[in-house]
Amino acid sequence: MYNPKSCKAEEFIDNEEVLASLKYAQENKNNVELIDKILEKARLAKGLTHREAAVLLDCEIEEKNKEIFALAEQIKKDFYGNRIVLFAPLYLSNYCVNGCVYCPYHAKNKHIPRKKLTQDEIKKEVIALQDMGHKRLAIESGEDPQNNPIEYILESIKTIYSIKHKNGAIRRVNVNIAATTVENYKKLHEAGIGTYILFQETYNKESYEKLHPTGPKHNYAYHTEAMDRAMQGGIDDVGLGVLFGLESYRYEFSALLMHAEHLEAVFGVGPHTISVPRIKKADDINPEEFDNGIDDDIFAKIVACIRIAVPYTGMIISTRESEKCRERLLHLGISQISGGSKTSVGGYFNPMPEDEDSSQFDVSDRRSLDEVIKWLMKLGYLPSFCTACYGSGRTGDRFMEICKSQQIHNFCHPNAIMTLKEYLEDYASADTKSVGEKLIEKEVESLEKSDIKDIVLKNLSKIHSGERNFKF
Ligand code: SAM
Repeated sequence: MYNPKSCKAEEFIDNEEVLASLKYAQENKNNVELIDKILEKARLAKGLTHREAAVLLDCEIEEKNKEIFALAEQIKKDFYGNRIVLFAPLYLSNYCVNGCVYCPYHAKNKHIPRKKLTQDEIKKEVIALQDMGHKRLAIESGEDPQNNPIEYILESIKTIYSIKHKNGAIRRVNVNIAATTVENYKKLHEAGIGTYILFQETYNKESYEKLHPTGPKHNYAYHTEAMDRAMQGGIDDVGLGVLFGLESYRYEFSALLMHAEHLEAVFGVGPHTISVPRIKKADDINPEEFDNGIDDDIFAKIVACIRIAVPYTGMIISTRESEKCRERLLHLGISQISGGSKTSVGGYFNPMPEDEDSSQFDVSDRRSLDEVIKWLMKLGYLPSFCTACYGSGRTGDRFMEICKSQQIHNFCHPNAIMTLKEYLEDYASADTKSVGEKLIEKEVESLEKSDIKDIVLKNLSKIHSGERNFKF
């Protein structure tokens, strides 16, 4: 029985409710009156239910689709301005006991080099990342209680936060590790993590069990209820995602929004972020073998509809996607992207030739962070290395409150300008710096409040003189 308030996976992601939503969406995909009503509600930017959003996703009327895309763009501008937050993944270990059929780290893969970074190696990786200009990381690890116990993850987080190389610092460590216990989530919370990210992969229980035939990840309920345990453990910010290509995108879309509704219903706060990875080629994985691949047009529609359905949830796109694809999606609702990423263990300090590589998947966007920053600025975006919300306790429901009232601009915009200035001073190439300085001038001009503008101007000059880490 469908119940968003239940803490049982099969009740808050009730299969019958997902199927009924898909049927409702199919029946109404050309229902202009209903679509107009949904769009009217969506324009209030307070979000939509999964059923309403499913109708928009399926909508086939060209004119209405144009309205959907335009609205997504508008909501993106209203909530996030032109800011794009940057991060990089850091792979700690690819030892894994699971049997995920889409992931090359599955336990039966005997030829992929297995690696686990020592604390000394983590230090080298982090220095390499700091030297690129990164301030925010997402740590990634396979699931292996022997090789990668929680103590190893905690020690690694401590190491990462402790490294201060030149002007560098990692100020926010997000964590993408397998579902775990409330006790372990408490420990991660105490270690000062930012967002806990866990992709559902697929919400369809039957497919989930087939795609995860062996290992602890086989347990659908344990995996699906992980975010509840994370929140019980004190983690305010959680990041959802599905791996598009495994199951029907319509099913995943509705279920993903049901998951968000469940978190909101039980904890009063929805997901902090939603990631939209698509399955990619990797070592012994061929994405063509999965029947549910989605093309770029459907992908764009999904991003636009998520943006409309949950306006205050950040959306992340990684370097799994090409420059062209990322460019198309940015204005439809993406708020965070990775740049200069390596998906192998130890890949930043010591890049390996391809045949000795331990990459999790092939990266499509292989540009350096400097190139990505310049590209963003040329497209009119303001790259941001800001981590201030987290440092100032603006997480969970406190963050959502500010975000929903659209006050977030008063913090984020000046913080984005100041962290970009830090980047330009410390890491940018001459060309990127010159594009960036012009952009900063323009962005400071656009600050509406004169007191904020004055502080920003003073801080920019202090940053130029070598001071760091200013924030609102
Ligand atoms: N091992 C952790 C877990 O079980 O959740 C998470 C870390 S894993 C390094 C991060 C994510 O990469 C997975 O959740 C999965 O969605 C994604 N991934 C795995 N194989 C992939 C592939 N071939 N292409 C694209 N993404 C993939």
